[in-house]
Amino acid sequence: MATNVFDMCPASWKQVISEVRTWARLNSIWAVHFNSGSCNGCDIETLATLTPRYDVERFGIKLQGSPRHADVLLVTGPVTRQARERLVRTYEQMPEPKFVISIGSCSISGGVFEGCYNVGGSVDEVVPVDVYIPGCPPRPEAIINGIIQLLTHVKEGTRPVAKRPEQTAEVASSQQERVVA
Ligand code: SF4
Repeated sequence: MATNVFDMCPASWKQVISEVRTWARLNSIWAVHFNSGSCNGCDIETLATLTPRYDVERFGIKLQGSPRHADVLLVTGPVTRQARERLVRTYEQMPEPKFVISIGSCSISGGVFEGCYNVGGSVDEVVPVDVYIPGCPPRPEAIINGIIQLLTHVKEGTRPVAKRPEQTAEVASSQQERVVA
């Protein structure tokens, strides 16, 4: 049977190694972005969060392409029937511990796309969600707030207990009208 080197270490070493791991993870969260059917509004806000103006890189967060190297999956939009399998596959390729942030009303409830023939449902019906960020679209400040919630849990070594916000198609529509007006 293969022996894990970590398991062979004395308890004091394990403690130090765990602390170093947490420190490293906390300061170098890598994110992969997946659009599961968004109108692109949430994607633009997510990318704005990464620009120098909002500068989420100051928290060590970096967007990169491969789910195999990612700690966090940022999902925007409702899950369309076409994207469902790809979302599952992307999630499964990520190493543990992995986290999912659901960005925007559509990813939380289907939003304005709820009931469409090509929409399968919300993100949490497909993969487990750790942080919800409501809004249509949520502003970069709200996205940063969601990321900070996640980092707080990573620091404490706990898993966020995500509470799904009350979101209906009407709420999403009224938010969108306010944006367009
Ligand atoms: S929440 Fe709004 S901005 Fe985001 S994908 Fe849905 S309709 Fe577009």
